[in-house]
Amino acid sequence: MTLSEKINAEIRDIKDFPKPGIVFKDITPILSRPKLVSEIVDWFVEKGKQDKIDVIVGVESRGFLFGMMVAERLGLPFVPVRKEGKLPHKTIKHSYDLEYGSATMEIHSDAIKPGQKVMIHDDLLATGGTALAAAKLVKELGGKVGNFTFLIELGFLEGEKKLKTENEAVYSIVT
Ligand code: 5GP
Repeated sequence: MTLSEKINAEIRDIKDFPKPGIVFKDITPILSRPKLVSEIVDWFVEKGKQDKIDVIVGVESRGFLFGMMVAERLGLPFVPVRKEGKLPHKTIKHSYDLEYGSATMEIHSDAIKPGQKVMIHDDLLATGGTALAAAKLVKELGGKVGNFTFLIELGFLEGEKKLKTENEAVYSIVT
């Protein structure tokens, strides 16, 4: 089995979560398979080396799971991007539109140094709004987006197009 097939075999489709009409991809069964977790980390580590990444940014909250492991393995800093009101120190914010309403993401203002090449990581790419907000925060602090990495990309939503504002690399294990 390929890595993509192994991940697909573990993902659960949860109907009507968190709202009626939504089919949620539940990735938690993957976390109970340590060998699969290692293979996934290896895959992201390779993308970090290939694009000479300096910092891993993980998006709340499932982006913390693999993001932190990838950072540790590469010997690089890990930086969390969180929903508004969760980070304790001085932050900058970015708001973006959701299907219904809007969301605001934050990053600590001293977390990225100008010129650093960043990997933006999350578990799943849907419309791309969340990852794009993280990218805007990184750029506002003077960082460069080296790549975006995801376990899963919902291809039909075309989030990848939205992220490639400056032709950044977008990598997903499963599409
Ligand atoms: P986007 O901003 O690309 O539309 O949505 C992606 C964000 O929503 C990510 O932070 C991701 O964790 C979360 N998300 C949206 N749908 C799903 C889903 O079906 N499964 C999981 N695990 N996360 C989802």
